[in-house]
Amino acid sequence: MTVTLDRTPNPDRIALALVNGVRVDAGGDYLRVSDPGTDEAVGWVPWGGADQARAAVDAASAAFGPWRAATPDFRANLLRRLALAMHEHTETLAHTLTREQGKPLTEARSEIAYAASFLDWSAEEGRRVAGEYMTAAASHRRILVMRQPLGVVAAITPWNFPAAMITRKLAPALAVGNTAVLKPAEQSPLTALAIAELACVVGFPPGVINVVTGDPDAIGQSWLSDARVRKLSFTGSTEVGRLLVQRAATHLTRLSLELGGHAPVVVFDDADLEVAVASVMSAKFRNAGQTCVCPNRVYVHRSVHEAFVSRMQSAIARLVVGHGLDAGVNVGPLIDDDAIAKVTEHLDDARARGAVVRTGGHLVQPRPGLARRFCAPTLLEGLTSEMRAAREETFGPVLGVQAFDTEAEAIALANALPYGLAAYAFTRGLDRALRVAEALDFGIVGLNETTVSTAQSAFGGTKLSGWGREGGKWGVEEFLEIKSVTIG
Ligand code: ADP
Repeated sequence: MTVTLDRTPNPDRIALALVNGVRVDAGGDYLRVSDPGTDEAVGWVPWGGADQARAAVDAASAAFGPWRAATPDFRANLLRRLALAMHEHTETLAHTLTREQGKPLTEARSEIAYAASFLDWSAEEGRRVAGEYMTAAASHRRILVMRQPLGVVAAITPWNFPAAMITRKLAPALAVGNTAVLKPAEQSPLTALAIAELACVVGFPPGVINVVTGDPDAIGQSWLSDARVRKLSFTGSTEVGRLLVQRAATHLTRLSLELGGHAPVVVFDDADLEVAVASVMSAKFRNAGQTCVCPNRVYVHRSVHEAFVSRMQSAIARLVVGHGLDAGVNVGPLIDDDAIAKVTEHLDDARARGAVVRTGGHLVQPRPGLARRFCAPTLLEGLTSEMRAAREETFGPVLGVQAFDTEAEAIALANALPYGLAAYAFTRGLDRALRVAEALDFGIVGLNETTVSTAQSAFGGTKLSGWGREGGKWGVEEFLEIKSVTIG
């Protein structure tokens, strides 16, 4: 992305970083946060670097002892209070989120509720962390297995879910006694700072949550070269994920990596097409297609192909594109000019290789005064494996459909890419559903369902989509160290 730095921004709209419970400046330039739909400045945050990153770790490190020693109930109460505060401030948070990220306000409100659900879930889960006690090889010996927090954990989050990606990482980490340093994405740091501010208000001790903003490379490098940082949880591109893996080698910092995806959908001839269309619609066009689990390629059995495509076409044509704060909007702007360029390239490439555009396929100007960052929701028929849209994450409102004849062919197509985050299948047959779920080489599978990310379930991928899981008890385990104590 291209960052815009200002030396003297509007002082009323600067959101400072939060370290040790105190608002801090970085003493240099400020990063301009823009509304992707209008290009207006929404606010500014400090352009921090290694110094700020280190100060955040100092604070988190100092806060770790007392936070770890506090009871799980104490921590759970604070997490629940934060969840409640987020619900109470939904309108303000959602407004900030829509302004900096672009998604429709209704979706931003849902994201705040979804983000709060990780706090509630982790509050309970953190109270149930337990050890084990067992006999050993010799009769006089016993083994005690403890689960303990890691220490300071770092989180680096993406721009597409500015609230939920924060709590999905921080809630389980904090619930079990870790302290945290966080760097939100340059495009959407204001929501993260607003949540951190609420955390201070509800009584989180200083240093337990620290949020810094600025140069991602310098901040990430500082954390991975600091032995006090015991884990980094990252959501973002595979390219940056690879870099972090290399840098984590210095101190063998544990990593959770939630990277790119390219989700397939398989629609069998016995599927309930209404359910399939409605599910694909909501998962594909949410956040203008800028989610890592959104369907990109749909493989439909030839016998129901036209029925599926025509229903999708009508449903897509009903979507309203516009600024996220405008009434009745379903699809907001894309995040930046690079995103628009990528979608345009994928569309040009698909057309050149013979795809038929059933609806959409072009940029739109929903009303005067908006930036050129809106894309009509698009349905491509005749997708083939050579097309870029079938191989690379488009991250936009573009859906491609390809016909298949056999189950084996559909599974092979679905598994063909190096990504393995989410996949979906629609069928009424129980035997087929289970067979297909087992065969899909993905971390997440939706059967007759595309809502796959919840506080209870395990979210994460295989292959180039990353390591580790977030959510549920698995998300909590990622932030615990196992210690085996042998007693003579
Ligand atoms: P996207 O393409 O979705 O923007 P990125 O992987 O570039 O994905 O960004 C995801 C997160 O990673 C953001 O918070 C971004 O600031 C951060 N990031 C980008 N480059 C680096 C880096 N070199 N080191 C650490 N974090 C980085």
